[in-house]
Amino acid sequence: MKKRQTQARVPRCKKCGAPAVIYMRQHRLALCETHFQEWFVNYTQRTIEKYHMFGPEDRVLVAVSGGKDSLALWDVLTQLGYRADGLYIGLGIDEGTQYSQRSLEAVRGFMAERPGLRLYVVDMKEAYGETIPELARRVRRGRGKPCSVCGLSKRHIMNELALREGFDVLVTGHNLDDEAAVLFQNTLRWQTGYLARQSPVLEATHPGLVRKAKPFCRFYEREVAAYAIVRGIEYQYDECPFSVGATTIYYKELLNQLERHSPGSKFQFYTQFLKAKKKGLITFHEPEGEVVLRPCRICGQPTTAGEICAFCRMWVRPDMDLEEAKRSVPSLTFRVETSESEEG
Ligand code: SF4
Ligand code: ZN
Ligand code: ZN
Repeated sequence: MKKRQTQARVPRCKKCGAPAVIYMRQHRLALCETHFQEWFVNYTQRTIEKYHMFGPEDRVLVAVSGGKDSLALWDVLTQLGYRADGLYIGLGIDEGTQYSQRSLEAVRGFMAERPGLRLYVVDMKEAYGETIPELARRVRRGRGKPCSVCGLSKRHIMNELALREGFDVLVTGHNLDDEAAVLFQNTLRWQTGYLARQSPVLEATHPGLVRKAKPFCRFYEREVAAYAIVRGIEYQYDECPFSVGATTIYYKELLNQLERHSPGSKFQFYTQFLKAKKKGLITFHEPEGEVVLRPCRICGQPTTAGEICAFCRMWVRPDMDLEEAKRSVPSLTFRVETSESEEG
């Protein structure tokens, strides 16, 4: 009896024929290590241009957490020649895990290999007197999890620092898996306001808001991870301990199941949504009268939450007058770290 051939065919790089390290089904593309790196960097540039994210003259602030996505993004933007500085926010999530401390070490390790980089560091404890878990416990928000306090603090600090330091755009390492999960969640609930705003670029719709962009929004998470590995980036592998059980993780798992049955479906789901919105085939609106942005009377950042924004409210008691309230909210402080420049 003839022996059946069981050995799988090794995919070959489409450009040079060498054994491929990755096959991307949605692009029908297999690439070797060298050509994958080249493709990844060029595809990021194409995404930046496709969605008019920023130009070569713009000052870019990259929100870095120490994870693979944000460090890979900083690496690519630097290779592409953009003027990109990093921003790291020390959340103080260290109780028993040293998560924040190890994240900062990963960022510093990354910088040590790349001369001439500049990093803004905001330490919650130093700047605001409390770590994120401490702040969340004091204000009793989020049912035992500090995520809502964390999210609102990060958004506030990133926006304030970017504007104060004169950056044109704030970029984050959100990938396709993140974006598709958010889209899935918002579609299931027909959250029209969120669907209207979900985009690779968020324009600064108010002078107190910085423009935001997500240059990795068309990469699968596995592609970003593969890029980080082939580039030798030593990132923080662990997720934040509070992310366990997050709803986004549940939606990501559902989409992964779908992807296993129908490869490329995540990519189609997200990119076709953007295409249909751009062509005007589907339109969403903010629920009428709900979104009125007014400057916070304490920090000046635009808010929908009334006179004082949700961030400042964490330090303000109802019996305080405006002057007392202003004194109670700590102001943003940061330090700047640089990696030794080759010339310097
Ligand atoms: Fe913050 Fe961790 Fe929650 Fe993410 S999972 S929002 S980093 S506390
Ligand atoms: Zn090749
Ligand atoms: Zn405020």
